[in-house]
This record gives sequence, structure tokens and C-alpha cells, in this order.
Amino acid sequence: MAAEGLRPATLAAQALGWVDEATRAIIPPLHPATTFLRDPDNQFRSGRIYGRDDSPAYDQAEALLAALEGGEGALVFASGNAAAAALFQALAPGDHVIAPAVMYWGLRAWLRDHAVRWGLEVSFLPEMTAAALSAVLRVGRTKLIWVETPANPTWAITDIAAVAALARAHGARVCVDNTAATPVLTRPLALGADYVMHSATKYLNGHSDVVAGALVTALRDAAWDKVRAVRRAGGAVLGPFEAWLLVRGMRTLYLRVSQACRSAERIAGHLAAHPRVAAVLYPGLPGHPGHAIAKAQMTGGFGGTLSIRVAGGEMAAVAVAARTTVFKRATSLGGVESLIEHRASIEGAGSSAPPDLLRLSVGIEDTEDLIADLDQALSDATGR
Ligand code: PLP
Repeated sequence: MAAEGLRPATLAAQALGWVDEATRAIIPPLHPATTFLRDPDNQFRSGRIYGRDDSPAYDQAEALLAALEGGEGALVFASGNAAAAALFQALAPGDHVIAPAVMYWGLRAWLRDHAVRWGLEVSFLPEMTAAALSAVLRVGRTKLIWVETPANPTWAITDIAAVAALARAHGARVCVDNTAATPVLTRPLALGADYVMHSATKYLNGHSDVVAGALVTALRDAAWDKVRAVRRAGGAVLGPFEAWLLVRGMRTLYLRVSQACRSAERIAGHLAAHPRVAAVLYPGLPGHPGHAIAKAQMTGGFGGTLSIRVAGGEMAAVAVAARTTVFKRATSLGGVESLIEHRASIEGAGSSAPPDLLRLSVGIEDTEDLIADLDQALSDATGR
């Protein structure tokens, strides 16, 4: 399907250049069918039986994702958390997994509250360094290392190639949550990871109108068959319309991410010098602890998300979010519209987010409008 030698931005813009054979349409049809005709001799030569596993609505999204991430296969799911859960549920009770303490809080909570009831043993590490990993890795028992880079909401950076080399030496596999970086900025499989996971709800779809998830695998092997079986049996499948919208969103992925990165970098630099900002957490800033690794590992930018710690503490942070008008006060990230949120409020009790932290998802609006909005929101009553 994909023309050889074309660059990822071209593959995405044309969704692999796919043309509908029946109509010559250059946009895919929407297939809502949940069931498929059996041949008179009782076979299913179409290869499709039932919509929970075989929907043609997934074909293009999965092929495009596999191509962009450089994997042999991809599966779309009903949400990012459903995609991640399927990978963990394909493991066996008694297996040991390692995850970072700084990661998307909803998935961390699932690991803490549900994966352990499934019999998985989970070690959360404050830092995903070789030394910290070596201390908890158990040959024969550690089956999966979870990486999120840049990681929500401090945008901590993990060296994917270093973790992958260590995992391989110990017989474990690595999955990278590539939601924030996207394949535009980081291709984990090329760095040695075994799987990539996405909350496709974010940059891949990009328009805040689809909840979806995806897994991409380096190898189509027996372990991947188990993941597919978990999706089929568990049924956390994406609706056909959502899959169609996802392909439509991915066509502009490269443009959107590039613009978001450019603006985020400008905003980070601007706020780093702002008297009402105590700290800017953005891997593109030389002062960020992960800057050197991010510079080597990410190409084309450092991402469209950043966090700031507001001078004056929690109430000051909440007040700043209350004053933005271009940045909308809402959770999530990776959409065309810029969002701001007080992270500790959404994570609730047990949140590890500093109380003065605001998370910013930079959209594709004019950079100057975004900076002006933050400036007016940060200025206090005296107009400082
Ligand atoms: N991973 C990251 C980095 C996220 O930000 C999110 C959602 O916020 C998820 C995973 C979970 O994805 P979803 O909300 O699509 O289930």
C-alpha cells in the first residue's frame, strides 16, 4: 500500500496513498458493518467474521500507525488505557513489570489497583536509570518495562536505547508510551523498544473529538498474537467512526506537531524569564534534567506540552488558570486548541504533581496570541 521511499509526513498526509478500489475515492469509506457474509461452503474467505475483531474500519489506521512507528503491526483500541491494559493482560499472573513513578496518573492507578489483582507484581521507579532498573530487574520474572518519555506532567526524559539494551540483556521487553512525543519526534522501535503505545485521543487524532488508543509492535510474534487475543476477548474495540476520524486526524499530524513544538519552545523560553513563574518544566530548556538525552533522542522538537510552577503556590496557580481566555481550562493534551490545567486538582488525592503546577498543552494557534494570553493571566492586580 505504501509507496517505497516516501517520508513519514508524506505517508501521513496521504494515509499511505490508499484509494478505494470500488469507487476510486481517495478518502476511505466508513465501514459500520458488525458482521460479514459467510461463503456457501461455510468458509470466511474475506478473512472477516465479526466486528469485534475484524472491522475493516481499523485497517487503514493500523497500517498507517505501523508505518509511522516502523513496526510490523498495530492494533487500535477503545482508549489509550485500554491499549496499555491489553499489553499487561497478555502477561501471566506472577510476572514482574517495572514502571516509572512519573507517568500518566490514570495508567499508574490502573497498575496499582488492577494489574496487581491480576497477579502482576509492579515496581514503580522514581528514575528510569540503568542503575535503578538493574536493582529491581529479575531475570526470568521481569517481562515488561514501561517507559513514558517525555512523562506527564514533569516531562521527565528516559533514555529509550539504554533501557532497551538493559531489558534485552535480562530477557524483558520494553513498551514506550509515545503519546507526548508522537512518531514525529521519537521513534522508540528504532531505538530498540519492542512496543509503542499511544493515547490516540491526543496528538494522533488531534481534534479533541475521539477517545482512542493504539499499540504498535516491532515484531508480529506469539506475544503479539496474545495481545490481539486480549482485544478480541476483552472487546475494548474502537468504533468505526472513531477509527475513520483517527485516520483523518493523522493526516495533519506532522504539521500540527511541528507548529505546537515551535510555539511550546517559544513559550517555555518566554516564561522561564517571567517573574511570576518559579520554574518551567520543558525538556527543550537547557536547564531541564533530561535535556541532553532529549536532544539526542528527539528529532524536530521537544514536544508541544510543558508545565509551569507558579510563584505564590497553589492558589496563585489556580488563579492564573482562571484568567486565561485563549488557553482553555480543560484536561487532556495534543489537540489543535491550547489547554491549561491545574494538574493536582484533576489527579486528586495521592497526586504527585506539585500543587503549584499548571500543565499547558500548546495547540496550533498564533504563538503571539498564546504568549499574550499567558502574560495577561500571570500579571497580578497591579499589572506587573
Ligand atoms: N498516556 C498518556 C501520556 C496520557 O496523557 C493519557 C491520557 O491522558 C493516556 C495514556 C490514557 O489515554 P486515554 O485517555 O486515551 O485512555
